[in-house]
Amino acid sequence: MVRALEDPRPPIPLAYRTEDRIGIQQLARDFAMRRVLPIANELDPEHGLIPEALRKEMGDLGFFGIMIPEKYGGLGLGVFEYALVTEELARAWMSVASIIARSGLAATFPATQRAELVPRAARGDWLAAFAMSEPDAGSDVASVRTRATKVDGGYLINGQKMWCTFADQANCIVVVARTQPYDPERRHAGIRQLAVHKDPGTFPAGVTGNPIRKIGYHGWHTWELSFDDCFVPDDALLGSDRTEPGDPDGGFKRTASGMTVPRIHTAARAIGLARGALEDSVAYVQQRRQFERPIGDFQSIRFKIANMAAKVEACRALMYQVAHDADQGESVDVKAAMVKYLASEMSERVTSEAIQIHGGAGYTTDFPVERYWRDARLTKIFEGTSEIMQRIISDSLLPASALR
Ligand SMILES: Cc1cc2nc3c(=O)[nH]c(=O)nc-3n(C[C@H](O)[C@H](O)[C@H](O)COP(=O)(O)OP(=O)(O)OC[C@H]3O[C@@H](n4cnc5c(N)ncnc54)[C@H](O)[C@@H]3O)c2cc1C
Repeated sequence: MVRALEDPRPPIPLAYRTEDRIGIQQLARDFAMRRVLPIANELDPEHGLIPEALRKEMGDLGFFGIMIPEKYGGLGLGVFEYALVTEELARAWMSVASIIARSGLAATFPATQRAELVPRAARGDWLAAFAMSEPDAGSDVASVRTRATKVDGGYLINGQKMWCTFADQANCIVVVARTQPYDPERRHAGIRQLAVHKDPGTFPAGVTGNPIRKIGYHGWHTWELSFDDCFVPDDALLGSDRTEPGDPDGGFKRTASGMTVPRIHTAARAIGLARGALEDSVAYVQQRRQFERPIGDFQSIRFKIANMAAKVEACRALMYQVAHDADQGESVDVKAAMVKYLASEMSERVTSEAIQIHGGAGYTTDFPVERYWRDARLTKIFEGTSEIMQRIISDSLLPASALR
């Protein structure tokens, strides 16, 4: 008899379990398995984008406003609930688990703009793209060369950006640029963030883009962008009324400190993908027969499953702990790097093992395990590579190295 995973939802550990958390996890799981998974399986092979209607449903369920305060129309919850929902959505399609992060930038805007933007973001009606990476500035954010030059009434942005996901469909592109010329002695100085507002489906005047051909993450396009005298008004400069008035390093600090929650989010995405690979493998090994028995009878297959399950569980336990500590106001930068590193490395191995378990079928596009692997592969690269995570962790344990 094939043993179905009747309710494969991982139980939330007792220390963190509440009725509300069980409820939101159930809601996200039902939505992911019923609505998202069939769409992902249909659209990913043809590189189709996340449908508008699906985004609308996600907005109605509150998934864009998980951490947005209730007074702005959000759910007013924490990083823990954000991670719970993310894991469920990523189990079905990583692109969908990723798009819920695109509302968060609204909270970093000046107060005068937040009142309008944040409620829209909570509904998913206003979503942003983030243009930090450049052809020669990836892991090394301080080497950004895009310039924002002060002119009468605003700034002119000039430069090249790489890897800007969602640039076409977003309502705004937040651009990391320099308001001062690059100074090798003070590389962090003058880096700021500027908001380039736009209509979804278009690029604003002074911006052109080319889509990048990717091996996965197909729910949205990722762009190479050219900024050529793109004008933004003075109030496009973020942080000017808040964290960094007069602080020339403020924009760099803002960019660097803004990575902690995205790294927990990325761990949750990686765990969701690995869980999808595990669940699909558990089902497959009970149906596929060789040598007149289900392949799930062979110890080598059973031990692979055991290994996968143990790794997923261990990473999830750390993710819960880091998310909980973040909600308590603890500084979790290093732990966020740890869980991002461990979960993404784990996810690549577990999704690859699922392909092995599926044999030749795993190497076709007829089973989603190959999609899980292609998407899991990315979690080791973006939001800081595995090597950069190891650098953050080792820097917290050892004196600074001259070799950076
Ligand atoms: C599909 C996709 C979507 C993306 N979306 C966005 C987006 O929306 N917005 C955005 O701004 N960026 C985005 N990125 C960019 C992503 O954040 C970068 O790819 C990532 O930061 C790595 O930068 P890089 O590709 O330039 O690699 P590099 O920094 O050139 O790194 C190459 C290799 O060198 C290693 N390395 C670099 N420095 C060190 C060091 N000091 N110590 C040890 N090893 C090191 C790296 O770990 C890596 O293995 C996206 C990338 C991809 C692939």
